[in-house]
Amino acid sequence: MLDKIVIANRGEIALRILRACRELNIKTVAVHSTADANQKHVLLSDESVCIGSPQSIDSYLNMPAIISAAEVTDSMAIHPGYGFLSENADFAERVEDCGFIFIGPRAETIRRMGDKVSAIKAMKEAGVPCVPGSDGPLGDDPEENLRIGREIGYPVIIKASGGGGGRGMRVVHAEGALLSAIALTQVEAKAAFDNDVVYMEKFLQHPRHIEFQVLADNHGNAIHLGERDCSMQRRHQKVIEEAPAPGISEEQRAKMGRRCVEACKSMGYRSAGTFEFLYQNDEFYFIEMNTRIQVEHPVTEMITGVDIVRAQLEIAAGEKLKYSQQDIHINGHAIECRINAEDPKTFVPSPGPIRLWHAPGGPGIRVDSHIYSGYDVPPFYDSMIGKIIAYGPDRKTAIARMRNALNEMVIEGIKSNIALHQEITNHGAFQAGGTDIHYLEKRLGL
Ligand code: ADP
Repeated sequence: MLDKIVIANRGEIALRILRACRELNIKTVAVHSTADANQKHVLLSDESVCIGSPQSIDSYLNMPAIISAAEVTDSMAIHPGYGFLSENADFAERVEDCGFIFIGPRAETIRRMGDKVSAIKAMKEAGVPCVPGSDGPLGDDPEENLRIGREIGYPVIIKASGGGGGRGMRVVHAEGALLSAIALTQVEAKAAFDNDVVYMEKFLQHPRHIEFQVLADNHGNAIHLGERDCSMQRRHQKVIEEAPAPGISEEQRAKMGRRCVEACKSMGYRSAGTFEFLYQNDEFYFIEMNTRIQVEHPVTEMITGVDIVRAQLEIAAGEKLKYSQQDIHINGHAIECRINAEDPKTFVPSPGPIRLWHAPGGPGIRVDSHIYSGYDVPPFYDSMIGKIIAYGPDRKTAIARMRNALNEMVIEGIKSNIALHQEITNHGAFQAGGTDIHYLEKRLGL
Protein backbone atom coordinates (compact mmCIF):
# COMPACT_ATOMS: atom_id res chain seq x y z
CA MET A 1 0.00 0.00 0.00
CA LEU A 2 0.91 3.65 -0.22
CA ASP A 3 2.69 4.96 2.83
CA LYS A 4 2.06 8.68 2.59
CA ILE A 5 0.35 10.89 0.00
CA VAL A 6 -0.04 14.58 -0.76
CA ILE A 7 -3.62 15.83 -1.10
CA ALA A 8 -3.32 18.54 -3.76
CA ASN A 9 -6.74 20.10 -3.29
CA ARG A 10 -8.94 21.84 -0.74
CA GLY A 11 -12.48 21.81 0.65
CA GLU A 12 -14.76 18.82 0.88
CA ILE A 13 -12.85 16.65 -1.60
CA ALA A 14 -9.59 17.08 0.32
CA LEU A 15 -11.40 15.90 3.45
CA ARG A 16 -12.99 13.03 1.51
CA ILE A 17 -9.54 11.86 0.34
CA LEU A 18 -8.14 12.23 3.87
CA ARG A 19 -10.91 10.01 5.25
CA ALA A 20 -10.21 7.29 2.68
CA CYS A 21 -6.49 7.46 3.56
CA ARG A 22 -7.27 7.08 7.27
CA GLU A 23 -9.20 3.89 6.57
CA LEU A 24 -6.20 2.48 4.72
CA ASN A 25 -3.60 3.72 7.23
CA ILE A 26 -2.06 6.03 4.65
CA LYS A 27 -0.44 9.16 6.09
CA THR A 28 -1.57 12.47 4.62
CA VAL A 29 0.11 15.73 3.73
CA ALA A 30 -2.22 18.68 3.19
CA VAL A 31 -0.83 21.36 0.89
CA HIS A 32 -2.70 24.63 1.23
CA SER A 33 -2.71 28.32 0.41
CA THR A 34 -2.22 31.00 3.07
CA ALA A 35 -6.02 31.52 3.00
CA ASP A 36 -6.69 27.87 3.88
CA ALA A 37 -4.58 27.21 6.98
CA ASN A 38 -7.80 26.57 8.95
CA GLN A 39 -9.33 24.10 6.52
CA LYS A 40 -10.65 21.02 8.29
CA HIS A 41 -8.45 18.58 6.37
CA VAL A 42 -5.37 20.72 7.09
CA LEU A 43 -6.12 20.53 10.81
CA LEU A 44 -6.73 16.76 10.61
CA SER A 45 -3.82 15.78 8.34
CA ASP A 46 -0.59 14.23 9.59
CA GLU A 47 1.49 17.02 8.05
CA SER A 48 0.77 20.21 6.19
CA VAL A 49 2.76 22.48 3.90
CA CYS A 50 1.79 26.01 2.91
CA ILE A 51 2.43 26.26 -0.84
CA GLY A 52 1.58 29.85 -1.67
CA SER A 53 -0.69 32.86 -1.55
CA PRO A 54 -4.49 32.62 -1.92
CA GLN A 55 -4.76 32.98 -5.70
CA SER A 56 -4.98 29.45 -7.15
CA ILE A 57 -2.28 30.20 -9.70
CA ASP A 58 0.19 30.69 -6.81
CA SER A 59 -0.93 27.70 -4.74
CA TYR A 60 -3.30 24.95 -5.97
CA LEU A 61 -2.07 25.36 -9.56
CA ASN A 62 1.57 25.82 -8.53
CA MET A 63 3.14 22.60 -9.84
CA PRO A 64 6.72 23.09 -8.54
CA ALA A 65 5.44 23.98 -5.05
CA ILE A 66 3.20 20.90 -4.88
CA ILE A 67 5.90 18.53 -6.16
CA SER A 68 8.44 20.08 -3.74
CA ALA A 69 6.00 19.47 -0.89
CA ALA A 70 5.86 15.80 -1.90
CA GLU A 71 9.65 15.73 -1.90
CA VAL A 72 10.26 17.40 1.47
CA THR A 73 7.64 15.25 3.19
CA ASP A 74 8.92 12.06 1.56
CA SER A 75 5.48 11.23 0.15
CA MET A 76 4.86 8.47 -2.40
CA ALA A 77 1.94 9.82 -4.38
CA ILE A 78 -0.21 12.86 -5.16
CA HIS A 79 -4.02 12.87 -5.28
CA PRO A 80 -5.25 15.84 -7.35
CA GLY A 81 -8.97 15.65 -6.41
CA TYR A 82 -11.18 17.46 -8.96
CA GLY A 83 -10.70 20.85 -10.62
CA PHE A 84 -7.29 22.56 -10.26
CA LEU A 85 -4.59 20.24 -11.71
CA SER A 86 -6.67 17.06 -11.82
CA GLU A 87 -6.97 16.94 -15.61
CA ASN A 88 -3.66 18.60 -16.43
CA ALA A 89 -1.62 16.05 -18.40
CA ASP A 90 1.60 18.08 -17.97
CA PHE A 91 1.19 17.94 -14.20
CA ALA A 92 0.56 14.18 -14.21
CA GLU A 93 3.67 13.76 -16.35
CA ARG A 94 5.85 15.93 -14.12
CA VAL A 95 4.64 14.13 -10.99
CA GLU A 96 5.63 10.76 -12.46
CA ASP A 97 8.91 12.09 -13.93
CA CYS A 98 9.84 13.23 -10.41
CA GLY A 99 9.30 9.69 -9.14
CA PHE A 100 5.87 10.03 -7.52
CA ILE A 101 2.64 8.19 -8.31
CA PHE A 102 -0.10 10.32 -9.87
CA ILE A 103 -3.41 9.09 -8.46
CA GLY A 104 -5.33 9.09 -11.73
CA PRO A 105 -4.90 7.92 -15.31
CA ARG A 106 -1.66 8.01 -17.30
CA ALA A 107 -0.66 11.45 -18.61
CA GLU A 108 -1.15 10.31 -22.21
CA THR A 109 -4.73 9.22 -21.45
CA ILE A 110 -5.52 12.58 -19.82
CA ARG A 111 -4.06 14.36 -22.85
CA ARG A 112 -6.03 12.25 -25.31
CA MET A 113 -9.34 12.62 -23.47
CA GLY A 114 -8.76 16.32 -22.69
CA ASP A 115 -8.83 17.08 -26.39
CA LYS A 116 -12.44 16.60 -27.46
CA VAL A 117 -11.71 15.78 -31.09
CA SER A 118 -9.26 13.03 -30.13
CA ALA A 119 -11.59 11.80 -27.35
CA ILE A 120 -14.49 11.44 -29.80
CA LYS A 121 -12.19 9.62 -32.25
CA ALA A 122 -11.14 7.18 -29.52
CA MET A 123 -14.78 6.60 -28.54
CA LYS A 124 -15.88 5.97 -32.12
CA GLU A 125 -13.08 3.44 -32.49
CA ALA A 126 -14.26 1.72 -29.31
CA GLY A 127 -17.86 1.57 -30.53
CA VAL A 128 -19.27 4.20 -28.14
CA PRO A 129 -22.11 6.20 -29.78
CA CYS A 130 -21.29 9.90 -30.40
CA VAL A 131 -23.34 12.93 -31.46
CA PRO A 132 -23.68 13.09 -35.27
CA GLY A 133 -21.14 15.65 -36.42
CA SER A 134 -18.12 16.62 -38.48
CA ASP A 135 -15.64 13.80 -38.62
CA GLY A 136 -12.85 15.62 -36.79
CA PRO A 137 -11.82 19.29 -36.88
CA LEU A 138 -13.40 21.79 -39.28
CA GLY A 139 -11.08 22.97 -42.03
CA ASP A 140 -11.02 26.43 -43.60
CA ASP A 141 -13.00 25.67 -46.76
CA PRO A 142 -16.33 27.54 -46.33
CA GLU A 143 -18.16 25.46 -48.94
CA GLU A 144 -17.16 22.25 -47.22
CA ASN A 145 -18.27 23.58 -43.80
CA LEU A 146 -21.63 24.64 -45.23
CA ARG A 147 -21.98 21.17 -46.72
CA ILE A 148 -21.25 19.54 -43.33
CA GLY A 149 -23.84 21.80 -41.69
CA ARG A 150 -26.47 20.83 -44.25
CA GLU A 151 -25.65 17.16 -43.86
CA ILE A 152 -25.97 17.25 -40.04
CA GLY A 153 -29.07 19.47 -40.17
CA TYR A 154 -29.76 22.59 -38.10
CA PRO A 155 -29.47 23.51 -35.29
CA VAL A 156 -25.80 22.61 -34.91
CA ILE A 157 -23.27 23.47 -32.21
CA ILE A 158 -19.68 24.60 -32.87
CA LYS A 159 -17.37 23.37 -30.10
CA ALA A 160 -13.74 24.05 -29.28
CA SER A 161 -11.68 20.87 -29.12
CA GLY A 162 -9.75 22.26 -26.15
CA GLY A 163 -12.84 23.68 -24.43
CA GLY A 164 -14.05 22.92 -20.93
CA GLY A 165 -16.25 24.19 -18.12
CA GLY A 166 -19.07 24.97 -20.54
CA ARG A 167 -16.93 27.49 -22.47
CA GLY A 168 -16.02 27.49 -26.15
CA MET A 169 -19.41 26.51 -27.62
CA ARG A 170 -21.81 28.28 -29.95
CA VAL A 171 -25.22 27.14 -31.20
CA VAL A 172 -26.13 27.91 -34.82
CA HIS A 173 -29.80 27.80 -35.83
CA ALA A 174 -29.55 28.52 -39.54
CA GLU A 175 -27.02 28.27 -42.34
CA GLY A 176 -26.65 32.04 -42.70
CA ALA A 177 -24.95 32.26 -39.31
CA LEU A 178 -22.65 29.25 -39.68
CA LEU A 179 -19.45 30.71 -41.11
CA SER A 180 -19.27 33.69 -38.76
CA ALA A 181 -20.00 31.37 -35.79
CA ILE A 182 -17.12 29.10 -36.78
CA ALA A 183 -14.75 32.07 -37.13
CA LEU A 184 -15.83 33.55 -33.78
CA THR A 185 -15.51 30.26 -31.90
CA GLN A 186 -12.04 29.76 -33.41
CA VAL A 187 -10.87 33.21 -32.23
CA GLU A 188 -12.33 32.68 -28.75
CA ALA A 189 -10.88 29.18 -28.49
CA LYS A 190 -7.43 30.42 -29.48
CA ALA A 191 -7.58 33.12 -26.80
CA ALA A 192 -9.06 30.93 -24.05
CA PHE A 193 -7.41 27.55 -24.66
CA ASP A 194 -4.52 28.43 -26.99
CA ASN A 195 -6.02 25.95 -29.47
CA ASP A 196 -8.23 27.11 -32.33
CA VAL A 197 -9.39 23.65 -33.41
CA VAL A 198 -13.21 23.52 -33.55
CA TYR A 199 -15.68 20.87 -34.67
CA MET A 200 -19.40 20.67 -35.42
CA GLU A 201 -22.13 18.57 -33.80
CA LYS A 202 -25.86 18.24 -34.09
CA PHE A 203 -27.38 20.40 -31.34
CA LEU A 204 -29.73 18.19 -29.33
CA GLN A 205 -32.66 20.26 -28.13
CA HIS A 206 -34.02 18.41 -25.12
CA PRO A 207 -31.34 16.04 -23.84
CA ARG A 208 -30.73 14.77 -20.36
CA HIS A 209 -27.18 14.52 -19.02
CA ILE A 210 -26.41 10.93 -18.07
CA GLU A 211 -22.93 9.74 -17.21
CA PHE A 212 -21.33 6.37 -16.47
CA GLN A 213 -18.80 5.82 -13.69
CA VAL A 214 -15.92 3.45 -14.41
CA LEU A 215 -13.00 2.01 -12.46
CA ALA A 216 -9.98 0.39 -14.08
CA ASP A 217 -6.76 -1.02 -12.67
CA ASN A 218 -3.22 -1.45 -13.96
CA HIS A 219 -3.81 -5.11 -14.80
CA GLY A 220 -6.30 -4.75 -17.64
CA ASN A 221 -9.45 -5.03 -15.48
CA ALA A 222 -12.28 -2.53 -15.80
CA ILE A 223 -15.84 -2.29 -14.46
CA HIS A 224 -18.69 0.21 -14.55
CA LEU A 225 -20.74 1.31 -11.56
CA GLY A 226 -23.85 2.30 -13.45
CA GLU A 227 -25.02 5.77 -14.35
CA ARG A 228 -25.91 9.10 -12.78
CA ASP A 229 -28.40 11.69 -13.97
CA CYS A 230 -26.94 15.22 -13.73
CA SER A 231 -29.48 17.10 -15.83
CA MET A 232 -30.30 19.63 -13.10
CA GLN A 233 -27.84 22.31 -14.21
CA ARG A 234 -27.43 26.05 -14.26
CA ARG A 235 -24.93 27.51 -16.72
CA HIS A 236 -23.54 24.02 -17.32
CA GLN A 237 -22.88 23.67 -13.58
CA LYS A 238 -24.52 20.66 -11.97
CA VAL A 239 -26.79 21.52 -9.04
CA ILE A 240 -28.43 18.18 -8.16
CA GLU A 241 -27.30 14.69 -9.20
CA GLU A 242 -28.85 11.30 -8.68
CA ALA A 243 -28.29 7.60 -9.28
CA PRO A 244 -29.65 5.57 -10.88
CA ALA A 245 -31.04 7.79 -13.66
CA PRO A 246 -34.87 7.70 -13.64
CA GLY A 247 -36.31 5.57 -16.42
CA ILE A 248 -33.10 3.89 -17.56
CA SER A 249 -33.66 0.16 -17.90
CA GLU A 250 -31.32 -2.54 -16.73
CA GLU A 251 -30.71 -3.52 -20.35
CA GLN A 252 -29.75 0.04 -21.34
CA ARG A 253 -27.44 0.28 -18.32
CA ALA A 254 -25.77 -3.03 -19.09
CA LYS A 255 -25.34 -2.21 -22.77
CA MET A 256 -23.89 1.29 -22.30
CA GLY A 257 -21.85 0.21 -19.28
CA ARG A 258 -20.32 -2.59 -21.32
CA ARG A 259 -19.34 -0.15 -24.08
CA CYS A 260 -17.67 2.17 -21.56
CA VAL A 261 -15.77 -0.75 -20.07
CA GLU A 262 -14.63 -1.83 -23.54
CA ALA A 263 -13.47 1.72 -24.23
CA CYS A 264 -11.46 1.70 -20.97
CA LYS A 265 -9.80 -1.55 -21.94
CA SER A 266 -8.98 -0.41 -25.45
CA MET A 267 -7.29 2.79 -24.26
CA GLY A 268 -5.56 1.22 -21.25
CA TYR A 269 -7.52 3.40 -18.84
CA ARG A 270 -6.45 3.48 -15.18
CA SER A 271 -8.23 4.79 -12.03
CA ALA A 272 -11.72 6.31 -11.76
CA GLY A 273 -13.33 8.00 -14.75
CA THR A 274 -16.64 9.18 -16.14
CA PHE A 275 -18.13 8.95 -19.61
CA GLU A 276 -20.57 11.79 -20.12
CA PHE A 277 -23.51 11.39 -22.49
CA LEU A 278 -26.44 13.40 -23.71
CA TYR A 279 -29.55 11.23 -23.71
CA GLN A 280 -32.51 11.98 -25.95
CA ASN A 281 -35.28 9.79 -27.43
CA ASP A 282 -33.81 6.68 -25.78
CA GLU A 283 -30.39 7.20 -27.41
CA PHE A 284 -27.05 7.95 -25.75
CA TYR A 285 -24.53 10.31 -27.37
CA PHE A 286 -21.01 10.60 -25.93
CA ILE A 287 -19.86 14.19 -25.31
CA GLU A 288 -16.74 13.93 -23.17
CA MET A 289 -14.79 11.91 -20.65
CA ASN A 290 -13.69 13.17 -17.24
CA THR A 291 -10.44 11.55 -16.19
CA ARG A 292 -10.75 12.21 -12.44
CA ILE A 293 -12.94 11.75 -9.38
CA GLN A 294 -16.13 13.80 -9.72
CA VAL A 295 -18.07 15.94 -7.27
CA GLU A 296 -21.09 13.66 -7.65
CA HIS A 297 -19.27 10.37 -7.00
CA PRO A 298 -21.08 9.77 -3.63
CA VAL A 299 -24.46 8.96 -5.23
CA THR A 300 -22.82 6.05 -7.02
CA GLU A 301 -21.07 4.97 -3.82
CA MET A 302 -24.40 4.92 -1.97
CA ILE A 303 -26.17 2.66 -4.46
CA THR A 304 -23.28 0.30 -5.19
CA GLY A 305 -21.47 0.18 -1.84
CA VAL A 306 -18.16 0.78 -3.64
CA ASP A 307 -15.85 3.39 -2.10
CA ILE A 308 -14.52 5.04 -5.27
CA VAL A 309 -11.80 7.12 -3.60
CA ARG A 310 -10.53 4.10 -1.73
CA ALA A 311 -10.48 2.19 -5.02
CA GLN A 312 -8.41 4.99 -6.58
CA LEU A 313 -5.84 4.63 -3.79
CA GLU A 314 -5.73 0.85 -4.12
CA ILE A 315 -5.35 1.06 -7.90
CA ALA A 316 -2.55 3.63 -7.52
CA ALA A 317 -0.79 1.21 -5.17
CA GLY A 318 -0.84 -1.37 -8.00
CA GLU A 319 -3.56 -3.57 -6.55
CA LYS A 320 -6.09 -5.40 -8.67
CA LEU A 321 -9.72 -4.25 -8.67
CA LYS A 322 -11.53 -5.81 -5.72
CA TYR A 323 -14.72 -6.28 -7.75
CA SER A 324 -15.69 -7.91 -10.99
CA GLN A 325 -18.76 -6.71 -12.92
CA GLN A 326 -20.91 -9.49 -11.43
CA ASP A 327 -20.19 -8.14 -7.93
CA ILE A 328 -21.78 -4.78 -8.74
CA HIS A 329 -25.47 -4.49 -7.84
CA ILE A 330 -27.55 -1.35 -7.77
CA ASN A 331 -29.52 -1.00 -4.58
CA GLY A 332 -31.91 1.84 -3.87
CA HIS A 333 -31.60 5.45 -4.94
CA ALA A 334 -29.34 8.37 -3.98
CA ILE A 335 -29.62 12.13 -4.57
CA GLU A 336 -26.99 14.80 -4.00
CA CYS A 337 -27.58 18.52 -3.50
CA ARG A 338 -24.54 20.78 -3.88
CA ILE A 339 -24.55 23.40 -1.14
CA ASN A 340 -23.02 26.68 -2.29
CA ALA A 341 -22.17 29.83 -0.38
CA GLU A 342 -24.27 32.08 -2.61
CA ASP A 343 -27.47 34.02 -2.78
CA PRO A 344 -30.26 31.53 -3.70
CA LYS A 345 -31.87 34.03 -6.10
CA THR A 346 -29.03 36.07 -7.64
CA PHE A 347 -26.32 33.36 -7.32
CA VAL A 348 -23.83 36.02 -6.19
CA PRO A 349 -21.13 34.31 -4.03
CA SER A 350 -21.43 34.91 -0.30
CA PRO A 351 -18.07 34.30 1.39
CA GLY A 352 -17.43 35.14 5.06
CA PRO A 353 -17.52 33.64 8.53
CA ILE A 354 -20.00 30.87 9.33
CA ARG A 355 -21.47 31.74 12.71
CA LEU A 356 -23.45 28.57 13.17
CA TRP A 357 -23.61 25.24 11.34
CA HIS A 358 -25.88 22.35 12.14
CA ALA A 359 -25.45 19.38 9.85
CA PRO A 360 -28.54 17.29 9.06
CA GLY A 361 -28.66 13.61 9.96
CA GLY A 362 -30.88 10.58 10.28
CA PRO A 363 -31.27 7.43 8.18
CA GLY A 364 -29.65 7.59 4.76
CA ILE A 365 -28.15 11.06 5.14
CA ARG A 366 -24.49 11.64 4.29
CA VAL A 367 -22.85 15.05 4.61
CA ASP A 368 -19.58 15.63 2.76
CA SER A 369 -18.46 19.06 3.90
CA HIS A 370 -15.42 20.78 5.36
CA ILE A 371 -17.28 23.62 7.07
CA TYR A 372 -17.69 24.12 10.81
CA SER A 373 -19.05 26.86 13.09
CA GLY A 374 -16.45 29.63 13.06
CA TYR A 375 -15.01 28.64 9.66
CA ASP A 376 -14.43 31.58 7.34
CA VAL A 377 -15.36 30.84 3.69
CA PRO A 378 -12.59 32.49 1.64
CA PRO A 379 -13.58 34.50 -1.43
CA PHE A 380 -10.90 33.05 -3.71
CA TYR A 381 -12.33 29.68 -4.71
CA ASP A 382 -15.42 27.86 -5.93
CA SER A 383 -18.45 28.63 -3.78
CA MET A 384 -19.35 24.98 -3.06
CA ILE A 385 -19.13 24.38 0.70
CA GLY A 386 -20.49 20.87 0.87
CA LYS A 387 -22.84 18.22 -0.41
CA ILE A 388 -25.84 16.54 1.15
CA ILE A 389 -26.43 13.03 -0.09
CA ALA A 390 -29.75 11.30 0.69
CA TYR A 391 -30.08 7.58 0.19
CA GLY A 392 -33.27 5.52 0.32
CA PRO A 393 -34.54 2.13 -0.79
CA ASP A 394 -36.40 3.96 -3.58
CA ARG A 395 -36.38 7.41 -5.20
CA LYS A 396 -39.43 8.62 -3.29
CA THR A 397 -37.83 7.87 0.07
CA ALA A 398 -34.55 9.45 -1.01
CA ILE A 399 -36.42 12.66 -1.94
CA ALA A 400 -38.34 12.66 1.37
CA ARG A 401 -35.09 12.25 3.31
CA MET A 402 -33.43 15.00 1.28
CA ARG A 403 -36.29 17.37 2.03
CA ASN A 404 -36.00 16.61 5.75
CA ALA A 405 -32.26 17.17 5.61
CA LEU A 406 -32.63 20.51 3.84
CA ASN A 407 -35.17 21.64 6.43
CA GLU A 408 -32.95 20.56 9.33
CA MET A 409 -29.75 22.12 8.09
CA VAL A 410 -28.69 25.45 9.59
CA ILE A 411 -26.04 27.73 8.12
CA GLU A 412 -25.84 31.20 9.65
CA GLY A 413 -23.53 34.07 8.82
CA ILE A 414 -23.40 33.52 5.07
CA LYS A 415 -26.05 32.99 2.42
CA SER A 416 -26.53 29.55 0.92
CA ASN A 417 -28.59 27.93 -1.83
CA ILE A 418 -30.59 25.73 0.57
CA ALA A 419 -33.79 27.58 -0.37
CA LEU A 420 -33.21 26.83 -4.07
CA HIS A 421 -32.81 23.11 -3.31
CA GLN A 422 -35.97 23.16 -1.20
CA GLU A 423 -37.86 24.71 -4.05
CA ILE A 424 -36.59 22.25 -6.65
CA THR A 425 -37.14 19.16 -4.52
CA ASN A 426 -40.69 20.28 -3.62
CA HIS A 427 -41.63 20.62 -7.26
CA GLY A 428 -43.69 18.04 -9.15
CA ALA A 429 -41.44 17.90 -12.22
CA PHE A 430 -38.40 16.96 -10.11
CA GLN A 431 -40.44 14.46 -8.17
CA ALA A 432 -41.59 12.84 -11.41
CA GLY A 433 -37.94 12.57 -12.56
CA GLY A 434 -36.35 12.72 -15.99
CA THR A 435 -36.27 16.52 -16.53
CA ASP A 436 -33.91 17.71 -19.29
CA ILE A 437 -30.83 19.94 -19.02
CA HIS A 438 -32.82 23.13 -19.71
CA TYR A 439 -35.43 22.56 -17.01
CA LEU A 440 -33.75 24.49 -14.19
CA GLU A 441 -32.79 27.54 -16.25
CA LYS A 442 -36.31 27.70 -17.63
CA ARG A 443 -37.75 27.51 -14.12
CA LEU A 444 -35.40 30.28 -13.03
CA GLY A 445 -36.52 32.38 -15.99
CA LEU A 446 -33.05 32.51 -17.52
P1 ADP B 1 -17.50 21.11 -21.20
O1 ADP B 1 -16.24 20.34 -21.30
O2 ADP B 1 -17.30 22.57 -21.41
O3 ADP B 1 -18.30 20.77 -19.97
P2 ADP B 1 -19.31 19.43 -22.81
O4 ADP B 1 -18.95 18.89 -24.13
O5 ADP B 1 -19.34 18.48 -21.66
O6 ADP B 1 -18.36 20.69 -22.49
O7 ADP B 1 -20.71 20.16 -22.91
C1 ADP B 1 -21.21 20.91 -21.83
C2 ADP B 1 -22.71 21.09 -21.96
O8 ADP B 1 -23.04 21.76 -23.19
C3 ADP B 1 -23.50 19.80 -22.01
O9 ADP B 1 -23.75 19.27 -20.71
C4 ADP B 1 -24.76 20.26 -22.71
O10 ADP B 1 -25.56 20.98 -21.78
C5 ADP B 1 -24.25 21.25 -23.74
N1 ADP B 1 -23.95 20.56 -25.01
C6 ADP B 1 -22.75 20.13 -25.46
N2 ADP B 1 -22.87 19.53 -26.67
C7 ADP B 1 -24.17 19.57 -27.00
C8 ADP B 1 -24.95 19.12 -28.13
N3 ADP B 1 -24.39 18.49 -29.17
N4 ADP B 1 -26.29 19.34 -28.11
C9 ADP B 1 -26.88 19.97 -27.07
N5 ADP B 1 -26.21 20.44 -26.00
C10 ADP B 1 -24.88 20.25 -25.94
